[in-house]
Amino acid sequence: MISDKLATALNQQINSELQAAYLYLAMSAYFNSRSLNGMAHWMLMQSQEELQHAMRIYKYLSDQGVKTELLELAKPTNTFSGVQDVFEHALANEKLLAEKLNSLAGMALNEKDNTTYSFLEWFLTEQVEEIATCNTILDKLKLIGESGHGLLLINNELGERQSVGMQE
Ligand code: MG
Repeated sequence: MISDKLATALNQQINSELQAAYLYLAMSAYFNSRSLNGMAHWMLMQSQEELQHAMRIYKYLSDQGVKTELLELAKPTNTFSGVQDVFEHALANEKLLAEKLNSLAGMALNEKDNTTYSFLEWFLTEQVEEIATCNTILDKLKLIGESGHGLLLINNELGERQSVGMQE
């Protein structure tokens, strides 16, 4: 059994993950508009990964017998000042998600809900990965600035990201 308080917080996290998926889709559209197709692909994969995160929580709540009432999504940021700005936003978003998941895990610990805590552990590790990946991309972007050749190299590298199999 999961408490109403924790179920509500997890439902809020479904919304945050979906909001992230929406933001990354907007970023993908931005890159497409600049013909940076590799980066657009990377962001599309990132968007799908966030959808999977949302579905993971949705399924967990459903398995716990909770009827999820989905919340409203906000319009994502659509304008960016450049490639680096996009990844700065992505990094900030991943840090925010990490904070929220950390506070959720804290709630589960407080309530001695070990099942939910154990469920959330995967997300905590995942966030470390997400933040590290964004930092690596940003480091490379800072090295090359917005120069044409370097940007195309990173664009090609990011275009090789494998697609994530959508799970039910
Ligand atoms: Mg996520």
